[in-house]
Amino acid sequence: MENSHCQKKKIMLLSLPMKTIRAFIAITLPQSIQHQLAEIRDTLQKEMEETTVRWVNPANIHLTLKFLGEIPEKDVTNIILKLSGEIRLHPEFQLNIQGIGAFPSVQQPRVIWAGLQEADALMRLQRSIESKMKELGYDTEERPFSAHVTIGRVKQHVTHQQIVNCGIVVARQDIGGLDGFIVESVELYRSELTRGAPIYTRLHTYRLKPRF
Ligand code: ATP
Ligand code: MG
Repeated sequence: MENSHCQKKKIMLLSLPMKTIRAFIAITLPQSIQHQLAEIRDTLQKEMEETTVRWVNPANIHLTLKFLGEIPEKDVTNIILKLSGEIRLHPEFQLNIQGIGAFPSVQQPRVIWAGLQEADALMRLQRSIESKMKELGYDTEERPFSAHVTIGRVKQHVTHQQIVNCGIVVARQDIGGLDGFIVESVELYRSELTRGAPIYTRLHTYRLKPRF
């Protein structure tokens, strides 16, 4: 009797859907940089039809190092623990945002981004996160890492002319370099997609190795 009750409970537990969350690992930009990017967005916006691009809220602009997708909620503690050991081996480093462009190309813009000056330290950090996550059983990103911060996305229902014009505006924009900043930490975020802007919640801050 007892046994069959336990058995039943076990089966019920096993068949419960696993709770997952959508998550990613990113570098959060300082507010001053978010403001500078918002000014660039304003300049671009003025030169194209208002309905062309869905701009990212400046507070949400970040540099994704690893998109995890849906992960079991119960894995979060382990990811925090294992990645902490890895990330704190990396010394803080300087990042410089420079130039804007579009994916897949300025001829056919879908994602509008601000680029980053080449930084070996950034590449090392990204690779080490990627390989640690692989050890934890997560798929490795097939596409090569392309460091960028997304500032806008071309909307779904736009005319061909709007797309062409958007690309022209992006291509001729010379934003120069923004202020450099020191990356002191990396964040694990939860992302909840909504009808409007996604909601990002910080789950953990991984401190890099302090320089001083
Ligand atoms: P939305 O999907 O509503 O436009 P978002 O892309 O900002 O919002 P998410 O889709 O949760 O929010 O993505 C979080 C971060 O991960 C973003 O920086 C996004 O560019 C990046 N990302 C999303 N999907 C992938 C993917 N398949 N590969 C690499 N990076 C991704
Ligand atoms: Mg997305």
